[in-house]
Amino acid sequence: MNVLVINCGSSSLKYQLINSESEEVLAKGLCERIGIDGSAITHQPAGGEKKKTEVDMPDHTAAVKLVIEKLTDPSVGVIKSLQEIDAVGHRIVHGGEKFSGSVRITPEVIRAIEECNDLAPLHNPANLIGINSCKEIMPDVPMVGVFDTAFHQTMPKKAYLYGLPYEYYEKYKVRRYGFHGTSHDFVSKRAAEILGKDIQELKIIVCHLGNGASVSAVKNGESVDTSMGLTPLEGLIMGTRSGDMDPAIVTFLSQKLSVSAEEVLDICNKKSGVLGLSNNYSSDFRDLAEAAATGNEKAETALETYAYRVGKYIGAYAAAMNGVDVIVFTAGAGENNAEVRALIGQYIGFLGTNIDPEKNKLRGEEVILSDADAKVTTMVIPTNEELAIARETEKLVK
Ligand code: ADP
Repeated sequence: MNVLVINCGSSSLKYQLINSESEEVLAKGLCERIGIDGSAITHQPAGGEKKKTEVDMPDHTAAVKLVIEKLTDPSVGVIKSLQEIDAVGHRIVHGGEKFSGSVRITPEVIRAIEECNDLAPLHNPANLIGINSCKEIMPDVPMVGVFDTAFHQTMPKKAYLYGLPYEYYEKYKVRRYGFHGTSHDFVSKRAAEILGKDIQELKIIVCHLGNGASVSAVKNGESVDTSMGLTPLEGLIMGTRSGDMDPAIVTFLSQKLSVSAEEVLDICNKKSGVLGLSNNYSSDFRDLAEAAATGNEKAETALETYAYRVGKYIGAYAAAMNGVDVIVFTAGAGENNAEVRALIGQYIGFLGTNIDPEKNKLRGEEVILSDADAKVTTMVIPTNEELAIARETEKLVK
């Protein structure tokens, strides 16, 4: 089955066409600056060259049309016609408490996703636009929604409640939801598979360290805690997000800077994290590791502060599960950045991780970092959210 996986943002659309039987990526690409001047599509067929073309894309429907054109193009395409797309899998950011798993998209499901819009006002409306555009162009192709929040719906109340008046949870659903669920699910299952163990018998901590970053505690195959909250702002220090901080900072800075609370939150989302800590040097961990190695003190501080928080979360989740068997690093920095992993490694050795510094130098591949005597197996497992979405889509469509 050929599954078109769509990840639609407010002005971008990422896609992959995946053959769900062979799990091969047939083609992938990205539409950027949709609805803005200078929009462009970057398309890459399997084994072929990546090519960026500037082309006018006034809206997402135009972008989806262009994706289909590329996929069926005689020179850079990989299928003959639209009929060869058997299903579409959409990444959806927020499913609130309504979705604890993936679903076939129906008019009722679309309404339920709309009802979650106020929980993710930047993401969900964009995801819905993607769904509607695909529906317009491929009305008969079945579609599936895969939610970032779904995997964490197994969290117990004590993990998802904030210490706020209970009525805010009841009335407004103010609680912790968690994100990156597709990745935490995929990576924890893969860890059990690699180790040849039953996931039902494992306590796993997954560190998803990308631009956005979160840690999760996966006990017996279920998420029991995760670091992101009502929104993806909570938890770890990220590329540009502050992560955990005293909420009083919002009003304090709002007064000092004479800006609204919304503007302070915008700073917390877009100008903070390692970018802010490094004095705007970079949000990219590659740049920061290079800069730190050549004596940039702010870059060094940013990395140290970042790693310290990851270390503390790992400690907290070992306590939450009353033990830990496996720690996994995944996503851009987790998979590739040996410097960041080594910094985090300083705080978790007491658990018995025995990380081998030579193995820690490897990048972007499945590897067990711990030596054979380790009490806690530490590993790197590349995540693959698109493949996970394609698998879910196939399962529901079949
Ligand atoms: P997103 O959350 O946007 O999906 P990614 O998972 O792609 O993010 O992670 C992006 C981060 O991964 C960047 O900070 C980048 O520096 C880091 N990264 C990606 N590739 C490498 C690499 N080869 N070496 C070191 N760091 C890398």
